[in-house]
Amino acid sequence: MPFNAERSIALAAVREATELCQRVQEQMAVQSIEKSDRSPVTIADFGSQALICSRLRRAFPDDPIIAEETSAVLTADDSQQSLESVIRYVRDLRPDASSEAILEWIDYGIQKEHTDRHWTLDPIDGTKGFLRGDQYAIALALIVQGEVQVAAVGCPNLTLGTYPDVKGVIAIAVRGEGTEFYRLSDTEPLGKAEVTATSNPDEARFSESVESAHTSHSQSAIIAKLLGIVKPANRLDSQAKYVVVAGGDADIYMRLPSKRRYVENIWDHAAGMLVVEEAGGCVTDTRGVPLDFGHGYQLTRNRGVLVSNGKLHAKLLQAIADTSSEE
Ligand code: AMP
Ligand code: MG
Repeated sequence: MPFNAERSIALAAVREATELCQRVQEQMAVQSIEKSDRSPVTIADFGSQALICSRLRRAFPDDPIIAEETSAVLTADDSQQSLESVIRYVRDLRPDASSEAILEWIDYGIQKEHTDRHWTLDPIDGTKGFLRGDQYAIALALIVQGEVQVAAVGCPNLTLGTYPDVKGVIAIAVRGEGTEFYRLSDTEPLGKAEVTATSNPDEARFSESVESAHTSHSQSAIIAKLLGIVKPANRLDSQAKYVVVAGGDADIYMRLPSKRRYVENIWDHAAGMLVVEEAGGCVTDTRGVPLDFGHGYQLTRNRGVLVSNGKLHAKLLQAIADTSSEE
């Protein structure tokens, strides 16, 4: 299989990070720290990033990593306690790690510019969901020449309808090779991911963000009505929304811009996109343009995101165009 080494390192890295995130969540150690843009971040974000970046650097020393966090918040004077917690949680899994090494690992992820081959990482996507004890994801992708080639999305709190007894899944995709699901703890795959065949909006289930600041709930409600979608939205935090489409628990994920100027970050979409595409689904922006990962850390050429099983895509794009007040 192409990218075999990358696939297995990505799976191992995301698996180890899910372990740390679960321990933080179980031990109720979840407190948020505020970043300069006022978005919340937790000690698990930093711990997850440290673990994943160190593994990637060891396996692929030349690959830059575009990750969401930097150690700057942690090394500020008033963050001593948070820093100590991060170190403690990382050392539970890597007993030999020094505090200097852990900070260095986090900052392996500070790349921002586009290169021919780089990774992108959201160490905890959906931090707000993580803080609430709901859905969150650890999302890692490899981008080569602007194309996402390998993806891993770990969703520790997600149970899919196909595997009702399994709490927590990791979805892994390699371009051209499909998407597979794994348990958090087991190296044997659960099975292949496959999107639904639903083409009738009457039966369609759609997912969207919990946060109305991240997606327009009012526009999606209008679109649902227009198309005759009767089931209420399943609101989930994080790239778990891509995973439910890939796993057949939803047919649609709409992310309709709620702020005129917001530009999406690549770590919020690269891994999720490949997981859905390789399960047979379709991912574009809200105008039908493919997501363009060729421009550094942001999707500067795209507006919003539309994800579907493919069958419903054209109808949705038309409805979005018909209900857009912009431009
Ligand atoms: P979700 O869990 O789907 O609500 O998405 C969480 C992600 O939304 C975070 O990782 C942020 O990077 C991103 N985000 C922050 N502000 C916005 C915004 N105004 N519109 C869309 N996404 C945003
Ligand atoms: Mg995120």
